Amino acid sequence: MSDTDTLTRILRCAPPPAEHVVDDFRERAADVAAKTAGDDFRAQWRSLAALGVLRLTGGAPDGPGPVTRGLAAIEGIGLAGIDPGLCYALTSQLFGMQHPLHTTLSRPGQDLTQSVEDGRTLLCHALTERVGGSDPLSMATRAERDRDGYVLTGAKTFVTAAPVADLAIVFARTATGRTPFALTAFLVPLDTPGVSRGETFDKTALRSAPMGELLFDGARLPATAVIGQEGSGLGIMSATTAWERALILGYALGPMRLLLDRTARWAREREHFGRRMGASHQVAGRISDMAMALHRSRVQLYTLAAALDAGTGARQLAAEAALTKISVSEDYLRMTEHATALAGVRAFLPDTDLAADPLSPLAALTYAGPNDLLRVGVARQLGLPVEN
Ligand SMILES: Cc1cc2nc3c(=O)[nH]c(=O)nc-3n(C[C@H](O)[C@H](O)[C@H](O)COP(=O)(O)OP(=O)(O)OC[C@H]3O[C@@H](n4cnc5c(N)ncnc54)[C@H](O)[C@@H]3O)c2cc1C
Repeated sequence: MSDTDTLTRILRCAPPPAEHVVDDFRERAADVAAKTAGDDFRAQWRSLAALGVLRLTGGAPDGPGPVTRGLAAIEGIGLAGIDPGLCYALTSQLFGMQHPLHTTLSRPGQDLTQSVEDGRTLLCHALTERVGGSDPLSMATRAERDRDGYVLTGAKTFVTAAPVADLAIVFARTATGRTPFALTAFLVPLDTPGVSRGETFDKTALRSAPMGELLFDGARLPATAVIGQEGSGLGIMSATTAWERALILGYALGPMRLLLDRTARWAREREHFGRRMGASHQVAGRISDMAMALHRSRVQLYTLAAALDAGTGARQLAAEAALTKISVSEDYLRMTEHATALAGVRAFLPDTDLAADPLSPLAALTYAGPNDLLRVGVARQLGLPVEN
């Protein structure tokens, strides 16, 4: 067995059935990547959904559980070279919305499961406002009781997929003050009168994932739009964010592996100072650190997926989810820094195959809860008298 084979074996640290799903999706998504390269976001989304990336059930009987299967599918499409922005948006919907809200999405009489899974219906998670990102209790968007429903007024900003989504999970204030029961979550069709799309944002990170604003100008919602019950918004949010923190960085596993492979290849082949570049111990150390970061990230993400498959509630895993989100995002950033250093000037030339994108890993320090704030939460669970 060559050294490269040994490393590949070590990095395949997920359970074998999950590794088979990774391989299967990598193979099938490679075709899709080639065929859909020029398509718009929604068309690419549908093509990947048709592979089964967004399916919550129906895996092979001897295959992994639905959460592990989803993570492996996402890793596989990332390895196939599917655009990271698209992988990010799919991962965000799958783990941040479909899994935690599956009972809401499959309500009798308005069962959305099938159309969400096959990509006809696209969801977005509308929490952030211009004035308040990390602090949900500062939100101004409000839903006021009106006859048998609610009237929604306000705006949600910096929302992934808002320019193209069909339905939004919207968090709004149903009571004043900073009490735990002041917020309520609603499922809002974006063609509801009084709902419109505001500004779209051209990001520097994950550029292909659309981001935008949603405006609510006295939009009337039926009582059935409430997710859970009035006042349970913070509870719903803690479930969606725990799920998202646990697994959102799964989208990065494919790009991380591709980064390691191409950087190791470059270090093996490039001639420098009359020898190959990888003969330098410092270069070799950087490559080892990259492998370590990827290995650590895979172990953490697949461990959390297994815990969720075993039935542990996402909220019970909130601390592990925060630690995993912090760790994998910072490992992704560190790997990108090593790859950028070793690629030299080519890292900054977009047309070379060593071009680097440090901004997308940097964005991971912010979305799904800024790492600084997550650290505070972890320390609080260790008994420190610290508050955000
Ligand atoms: C790629 C991307 C996708 C996103 N998608 C969505 C989406 O789909 N839906 C949605 O609702 N939002 C989305 N967001 C927005 C995201 O949730 C917010 O950016 C995030 O909650 C942070 O809010 P903020 O940007 O206002 O930063 P702030 O709250 O202003 O925080 C900025 C920084 O200030 C520091 N800080 C502030 N307060 C404290 C404190 N108490 N303790 C320690 N440090 C502190 C931290 O360093 C923190 O990173 C997305 C963001 C990005 C980058």
